[in-house]
Amino acid sequence: MSYVIGVDIGGTNVVVGLLTGELQLVRKAKQPTGTANGADFVLGRIAGMIDALLQEEGIDRDELTAVGMGNPGIIDPERGIAVMASNMKWYDLPIAEKLSGILGGIPVFIDNDVRMYIYGEAVRGAGQGFRHVMGVTLGTGIAAAMINNGSPYYGGSFMAGEFGHIVMEGESALCGCGLRGCLETIASATGIARIARERIAAGRSSLLADWFPDEAQRAAITAADVSRAYDAGDQVAIEVMDFVGTMLAKGLSYAIPLWSPDVIIIGGGAANAGERLLAPLRRGMQGIVHPMYLDRIEIRLAEMNDDAGVVGSAAFAQARAAALPA
Ligand SMILES: [Zn+2]
Repeated sequence: MSYVIGVDIGGTNVVVGLLTGELQLVRKAKQPTGTANGADFVLGRIAGMIDALLQEEGIDRDELTAVGMGNPGIIDPERGIAVMASNMKWYDLPIAEKLSGILGGIPVFIDNDVRMYIYGEAVRGAGQGFRHVMGVTLGTGIAAAMINNGSPYYGGSFMAGEFGHIVMEGESALCGCGLRGCLETIASATGIARIARERIAAGRSSLLADWFPDEAQRAAITAADVSRAYDAGDQVAIEVMDFVGTMLAKGLSYAIPLWSPDVIIIGGGAANAGERLLAPLRRGMQGIVHPMYLDRIEIRLAEMNDDAGVVGSAAFAQARAAALPA
């Protein structure tokens, strides 16, 4: 039998999955990344997790065809280098080569984590059967990826897909990137919570204000709380979701004519808002996206949750390994 490993690494946790050659997930494990201990520690931990999974299933290392890893930040998948992974403090680090060395030469392929998440959805999730898959993740920030006929679109310096940093007219919240009014300051889990807080601070009465009576507590309001208030019919929560969905539609109206995707997959934590967000999103696209796109495009929620990154990394590594010279 042949197996493949998928790794989904973030600043906080790392998930390692063991998959069959047919990309069925056999077993997975999760541990704190241990970022503060440095890259060698983190890669050693990942190798240890891989060996433990193999041992638990009675599989030898030489049955592994490849290891794939989705890494946050700007990644050079051709050379296997983490160019700029700010939250890991990894700069120009040859991650693939280092991990491959620890694992006795098994080929390791790395790519950006959002690209791998969408790759997973494209091959096994909501994008199955579509040739041109665009995915958007709404989490702390926003990112996007485009997978064409099974191949990720990278752009110059592998920086395509930074969809969260489209600046929206009339918006001024400071973004982590240094610009003001970026889409991700609005249409993200963080943005939903922030906008709700601002409306309450402006004196609007809302269930959210009742649930968080203390000024200091209101910093803890999350997008999930806004969804809860929405379901209870709260006017502020409904307005926030409408606004955020409309702004996301505006952002997508710039991307759709450029890329002409067959399907747009919405994933990430804020996608839990589901139809509360998708309904205003669909409405908001009317009149600003030409019907020749709108009539054929599907908008779907991601289906694989936490597994998309692991399965996507594994599938990507398997495809890359198959293309290696024998
Ligand atoms: Zn930005």
